[in-house]
Amino acid sequence: MSKDVYVFAEQRDGNVQKVSLELLGEATKLAGALGEKVVAILIGQGVKAKAQELITYGADSVLVIENDMVKEYVTEPYAKAVCKVIKDCDPSIVLYGATAIGRDLAPRVAARHHTGLTADCTKLEIGAEEGGTKLLWMTRPAFGGNIMATIKCANYRPQMATVRPGVMKIVHDTGRKGEIKDFKVDFVPADMNVRIRKVVKEDKKAVDITESKVLVSGGRGIGSRDYFAELGKLAKALGGEVSSSRANVDAGWIEKERQVGQTGKTVRPNLYLALGISGAIQHLAGMEGSDLIIAVNKNETAPIFDVADLGIVGDLKAIVPKLTDAVNKYKAAALK
Ligand SMILES: Cc1cc2nc3c(=O)[nH]c(=O)nc-3n(C[C@H](O)[C@H](O)[C@H](O)COP(=O)(O)OP(=O)(O)OC[C@H]3O[C@@H](n4cnc5c(N)ncnc54)[C@H](O)[C@@H]3O)c2cc1C
Repeated sequence: MSKDVYVFAEQRDGNVQKVSLELLGEATKLAGALGEKVVAILIGQGVKAKAQELITYGADSVLVIENDMVKEYVTEPYAKAVCKVIKDCDPSIVLYGATAIGRDLAPRVAARHHTGLTADCTKLEIGAEEGGTKLLWMTRPAFGGNIMATIKCANYRPQMATVRPGVMKIVHDTGRKGEIKDFKVDFVPADMNVRIRKVVKEDKKAVDITESKVLVSGGRGIGSRDYFAELGKLAKALGGEVSSSRANVDAGWIEKERQVGQTGKTVRPNLYLALGISGAIQHLAGMEGSDLIIAVNKNETAPIFDVADLGIVGDLKAIVPKLTDAVNKYKAAALK
């Protein structure tokens, strides 16, 4: 019978991607609800040293597949490796990050195993028992984000989902113990149906707001594109980044990479400053998991105050420069 929750542990240049660590944390919750184990699938060359790290993030065991053929990500050999794991181990659930690699790999595996795949999930849970089994409920935005759809895969196994980066919470316990096993896949030259001539790495200047511990987020209430410079000063003082609601992205005031929300990024910083943001449901969906939310809004009934830990009713233009000044003064005093 199918069992256990498997996570495709995506690595690039030997670095396990953050979304895979998030998935391991989520997988421990799902496995806990099922009374099953979490298994990570680690594929690459010279990556075995990373297996222990996966255990500390939630894996009970790690299957390591090492081969020259899977040194770089190539669809065919990776799909073959994951399919072999599924065939031999019969997992109940397999999770992938909704990254370029996960979005390429998961559909291939789903087609080969004749099972379903729910893409770009923002929530996973184990549902109540139905017909003697507990199914994975996979939730994702549908119809352009206007509704949230919960999808179940009742008749085929494994149940598979790709999950949006930044949504699930990382759980880290350096004391966790687990098992590391080599898993053999018989690769043949024909598996490599493309030849990698050169790997070119783009110097990515774009920021990743999901990585920032502090976000200074501006909404339509900032009034103009130019005011982002003022938010930048506050972000710099706090060691964070500037982000935005969709209103300003749609207005062309700031790039889409910095948009927080249902159709933007999901963030969980230690501090989220919501400045001139009303708190529409689609915005909240991307930031309500932040540790501390401070909102500034001139309308005391703005819904953002319902999720804020601290709310300031007032004109952000009067408050932001004072805040920047105060943070800078505090830092200067602390250095003395
Ligand atoms: C399918 C769909 C997907 C969406 N996805 C997203 C998404 O990913 N992210 C997102 O953010 N939105 C998204 N939206 C849009 C969302 O519904 C809202 O329209 C948007 O979040 C509003 O942005 P805002 O809060 O900046 O602007 P507004 O709603 O216009 O709010 C501006 C706020 O600023 C306050 N304000 C004005 N001047 C000042 C001042 N001087 N000082 C202090 N406060 C001031 C006002 O009181 C007001 O509360 C989506 C909508 C749909 C339909």
